[in-house]
Amino acid sequence: MCAFRKTNKVRPKKSLGQHFLHDLGIAKRIVDALKSGSSQQNVLEIGPGMGVLTQFLINRNHTNLKVIEIDRDSVAYLKTNFSMLHGKIIEGDFLAIQPAEIFDGIFSIIGNFPYNISSQIFFKVLENHDRVDQVVCMLQKEVADRIAAPPGSKTYGILSVLLQAYYDIHFLFKVPPGVFTPPPKVISGVIRLERNQVASLACDEKLFVQVVKQGFNTRRKTLRNALKNLNLAAEIVALPLLDKRAEQLSVKDFENLTLLIEKSRGAVGS
Ligand code: SAH
Repeated sequence: MCAFRKTNKVRPKKSLGQHFLHDLGIAKRIVDALKSGSSQQNVLEIGPGMGVLTQFLINRNHTNLKVIEIDRDSVAYLKTNFSMLHGKIIEGDFLAIQPAEIFDGIFSIIGNFPYNISSQIFFKVLENHDRVDQVVCMLQKEVADRIAAPPGSKTYGILSVLLQAYYDIHFLFKVPPGVFTPPPKVISGVIRLERNQVASLACDEKLFVQVVKQGFNTRRKTLRNALKNLNLAAEIVALPLLDKRAEQLSVKDFENLTLLIEKSRGAVGS
């Protein structure tokens, strides 16, 4: 006999980063932070859990909603309690799925992210920056700060540069631990990323990622030292820009530097 009652709550699992939001006012604010266009909008919610955000998304105008949830118990809960989600629930791992399996075209992402994999989610967003036009999410405030940080600040890092290359990023508001069950140990933050006008970078995008990652790998060193593994041509090594540390460079600086490296390599080969 099935003892599953309609109201049975999901027991939070630490391994899946489950902290369920129980403040409906905050849930609505997060959903309201998602900007809409004039036409139908594909929206993917990552990790709906027991549907605290989902309930507002279901009734949102011009929204073609799908949700992806890895936890079987949460999926069972959603199926029992949200009949309107029929056919819209993907039981699976966002990190393992191809976006084309979810939507044909461009889509927006929303979610109270599992904090343990939020960086990986953003790397996946980056891989799909041509398809993901907006992200509204709650995550550990420290990570939110880092992503939104401007050049020169201590928290500016790899994800800040890579994401800011393709997205305009706004920190929206803080959320205290007490509004979750169980409360996380950290303060949370809600941010919005909106795809900027840059169709593609002026430089080789793979090399750009390599330069940024390598540059921040040893963030206290000058770029001249940090980028040693890239076997830079003498003319690049001599650039005054390489006296700086990675955290001092804007996205545009990284882009220009990558372009110069690319050109110097092209010259060697020709
Ligand atoms: N949105 C809910 C739950 C947030 S907790 C709320 O605000 O209350 C994070 C959710 O992400 C959990 O439901 C967890 O099961 C789910 N999750 C964790 N890893 C995931 C993954 N790789 N893919 C999809 N969902 C995942």
